[in-house]
Amino acid sequence: MIPYGRQLIDDEDIKCVIDVLQSDWLTTGPKIAEFEKEFAKSVGAKYAVAVSSGTAALHAAMHAIGIKKNDEVIVPAISFAVSANCVVFQGGRPVFADVEADTLLLNPAEVEKKITNNTKAIIAVDYAGQPCDYDKLRDIAKKNNLLLIDDACHALGAVYKNCRVGSIADLNIFSFHPVKHITCGEGGMITTDDSAYAKKMRIFRNHGIATDHHQRQAQGSWYYEMVDLGYNYRITDFQCALGLSQLLKLPDWLVHRREIAAYYDESFSGIEAVTPLTVKNYVEHAYHLYVVKFDTKKMNRDRKDIFHSLREEGIGVNVHYIPIYLHPFYQKTFGTNRGLCPIAEAAYDQIISLPMYNGLSQGDAEKVVKAVKKVAL
Ligand SMILES: *Cc1c(COP(=O)(O)O)cnc(C)c1O
Repeated sequence: MIPYGRQLIDDEDIKCVIDVLQSDWLTTGPKIAEFEKEFAKSVGAKYAVAVSSGTAALHAAMHAIGIKKNDEVIVPAISFAVSANCVVFQGGRPVFADVEADTLLLNPAEVEKKITNNTKAIIAVDYAGQPCDYDKLRDIAKKNNLLLIDDACHALGAVYKNCRVGSIADLNIFSFHPVKHITCGEGGMITTDDSAYAKKMRIFRNHGIATDHHQRQAQGSWYYEMVDLGYNYRITDFQCALGLSQLLKLPDWLVHRREIAAYYDESFSGIEAVTPLTVKNYVEHAYHLYVVKFDTKKMNRDRKDIFHSLREEGIGVNVHYIPIYLHPFYQKTFGTNRGLCPIAEAAYDQIISLPMYNGLSQGDAEKVVKAVKKVAL
């Protein structure tokens, strides 16, 4: 089975991890600051804060901007659940806005409709690796005094009108899960130009304690203060060593992902029942995912059926994602239901993610195309 996504680890990566395992520091050592510095540089942000997962990164971001009970945060209908869960972690309410039919990106016009006196922030998700319409989203945020957060877990290496993803929103979130562009096993990062947010998140990831053990050692003191309620969201040094090694390969991997996408685009251009998502002419797409819509009406088959046919052909296709508010947790906690975001719901019935990863070979991409043609023609 050709999977939809997977990591690519080489001997250099392994050596970097072993070096740290043989050093004095397994966690909160020098590799963390080094990874943060290189990562911030690569996306063009002033500060980067590394944490244990993308989920921890989103939680830290919601904490940093002070989301609390009764606060509303606007999120897109289609994303991984944690894009909304992070608001709930802080006692806030995620308010779902519909997406654009051809890109599945948060629709700025729908965002405007959902703003109330309780709205504090917008979380944009660069779905599949394509940046959202940030000129419009920033205008809306400014006009309504809202913060703009970019859940950029799909979009490391993407560019919006000459601005690198990671340097666009007030806070920008990344994940280093094995299916993402670069991996630490598990890991996450928040980038920002705001030193106060960065400081708050560094404290949040370490139990809310104001100094770390290096600072205490330098002061020659046992004394520390817990100034805020925090968590253990620390990442280890050997994970950051892996992240640093992977980051060096990102430029080549982005080229590869874009080549595979161009090959898929070209191969599907003549097939009426298969439509890849639209790519705007002012972005450089990072292709975490390659998503197509199947014309289920024309094919007279539902998505589930198409999904199983592709799996039978040995293609490890996937579906990203069930509209978040249709998960039972959201239905029972917030009373959300079908009909809330009709564009997202209609898209959900048609989308399938095809294999897209750093190590995907041209031969395997050809097998994917062949299987899609067999199913769709
Ligand atoms: C992967 C992902 C996350 C969460 O990252 P983890 O590191 O798995 O916690 C959040 N949002 C989106 C859109 C993602 O794809």
